[in-house]
Amino acid sequence: MKCVECGATATKMNEEEMPVCSKHSRSKLKSPKCPECGLEMKVRKSKYGVFWGCMAFPMCDGLRKI
Ligand SMILES: [Zn+2]
Ligand SMILES: [Zn+2]
Repeated sequence: MKCVECGATATKMNEEEMPVCSKHSRSKLKSPKCPECGLEMKVRKSKYGVFWGCMAFPMCDGLRKI
């Protein structure tokens, strides 16, 4: 697996369980803005996979593909 930040070989998973190299193990992925309300988005998981979900969920159900 490759680091989601720089593309180097990933050695671990970060808090959001995305592959990262040791240099980026603490940095968070830059979260996109919600297309619905403009708030930041968080990595969420469902049985369909991983996706960006609005911070304000369940008040807002804005979604984006990762
Ligand atoms: Zn990296
Ligand atoms: Zn939203």
